[in-house]
Amino acid sequence: MVLKHKRLKILFLHGWHSVVGGVKPTFLIEQGNEVLNPKLDDDDWDVALATAEAAMHTLQPDVIVGSSRGGAIAMNLDSGSIPLVLLCPAWKRWGNVDQVKPNTLILHSRADDVIPFEDSEDLIRRSKLHSDTLIEVGADHRLADPNSLSVMHWACQLLGSGEPMIWLQEDSENAGAPDRHSGASQDDASYICDACGEEIVIPLDLSEGSLQRYVEDCPVCCRANIIYVQVDDDGQARVWAEPEQDYE
Ligand SMILES: [Zn+2]
Repeated sequence: MVLKHKRLKILFLHGWHSVVGGVKPTFLIEQGNEVLNPKLDDDDWDVALATAEAAMHTLQPDVIVGSSRGGAIAMNLDSGSIPLVLLCPAWKRWGNVDQVKPNTLILHSRADDVIPFEDSEDLIRRSKLHSDTLIEVGADHRLADPNSLSVMHWACQLLGSGEPMIWLQEDSENAGAPDRHSGASQDDASYICDACGEEIVIPLDLSEGSLQRYVEDCPVCCRANIIYVQVDDDGQARVWAEPEQDYE
């Protein structure tokens, strides 16, 4: 399956004492998304939550992204089926929700010295979600480096596409389904090069894990693409590519 780059409506909830219009929401806008990035009160939790709730009803987002305290706010919103992308969510410090819904992805650095990586591991366990729901990325709490920004956008695209997460499907539906491993593993997959529009076939190395990210030059136009591969338990893959950008 090839995922097409989609323009998404994203509600971005910033962290405690973060500025509106920071690196992360700016990056999401630069990728062609419509982003609402409301100013959230740093001192009054209830006011911040109400602001986020109002913004959610105004925008009707495809995805909600919450960073740190904003991640806790995202968890405490009554957001129904809207998927969540949580960046090192500070759920132990703020709010009273200690689980997340299945269509959630969490990005966290193990080197985070503000919110421990273990908090996200704990969150996954409590929510009974697949361990791949938690993506280890970045080198600090900010997650503002090019790699983290890119993975954040990929997570938004993946969840915002409306496709159920492959591993979550498998986890929830595998009971009593003896045929589920009958399908042959894929040896290759394909993506559409953003620069030239050609469909590029790539070999799959399933030993590299279920969530892969690497850079390769398009064999047709030679532009560098960042390739994301998601492989399920049966070896079926989903590939998504975006052009590698120059970061100053
Ligand atoms: Zn190309």
